[in-house]
Amino acid sequence: MKIANLAGRAVLVQSENGAIDIADASDGRFGPDPQHLFEDWAAFAEWAAALERADAVGSVSFDAAELAAPVPRPRQVFAIGLNYAEHAAEAGYPPDSMPVTFTKFPSSIVGQGAVVELPEGNVDWEVELVVVIGREGHKLDRDSAWDHVAGLTIGQDLSERITQLQGAAPQFSLGKSFPGFGPTGPWLVTTDELPDRDDLAISCLLSGEQMQASRTSMMLYDVPELLVRLSAVCPLLPGDIIFSGTPSGIGNRRTPPRFIGPDDVLVSEIEGIGTLTTRFAAAG
Ligand code: ZN
Repeated sequence: MKIANLAGRAVLVQSENGAIDIADASDGRFGPDPQHLFEDWAAFAEWAAALERADAVGSVSFDAAELAAPVPRPRQVFAIGLNYAEHAAEAGYPPDSMPVTFTKFPSSIVGQGAVVELPEGNVDWEVELVVVIGREGHKLDRDSAWDHVAGLTIGQDLSERITQLQGAAPQFSLGKSFPGFGPTGPWLVTTDELPDRDDLAISCLLSGEQMQASRTSMMLYDVPELLVRLSAVCPLLPGDIIFSGTPSGIGNRRTPPRFIGPDDVLVSEIEGIGTLTTRFAAAG
């Protein structure tokens, strides 16, 4: 199933123009706040699956212009650096024995169709598979790790490279947390909808030019391994999200370097999930 945030209300997406309002259809048991679905995800998923089996018909019109972030207020946002070998090489780092972990502060999270004001500096793109946690877990093992995932969505780990790379030690978290720097969406997709949850085509176009293209099976640390490594330290909480790293093709490592301008349109795509589009504006 596909679950979207339509102007602040959780909906089950049925078609290009039809959706079921989850709070209405469940008589207030689930939603309307999309973030509340994760508090009892197993019960919600069971209810939603039964609704889909019953061929329930959508009650609300679905307008893509009203989409907001599918996980609007995660308590924890994990982000992984250098998780594809070719990207680690282009960034000038050797593969590490531990995934490079930072955060994008939650105030940076936005949804489909955001217009992001460009701060001064060099703003770069990174398409990423984003994992959404549906069940609390600490010290997970590989075999049960996927059971803690509610679903997947697309993320753009926008980065201002001057802020990120100034100083002796990089400032990953700050340089990637300007307002609007965490586009996610267009919706959350449960993994049963996907051809292979461990091997999805992932790509990114800037104003029509393909910049990144890879497969999620090329990750150095796959989704179960990320959940094992992160949860060895931090309990993973329902509604947390994990940006799982980007393939090669970022602007900072192009010759000459290329960065996002106010007229650019960034379109990211992941097989089985959809496309996520972000526009930009000059600083006001
Ligand atoms: Zn990234």
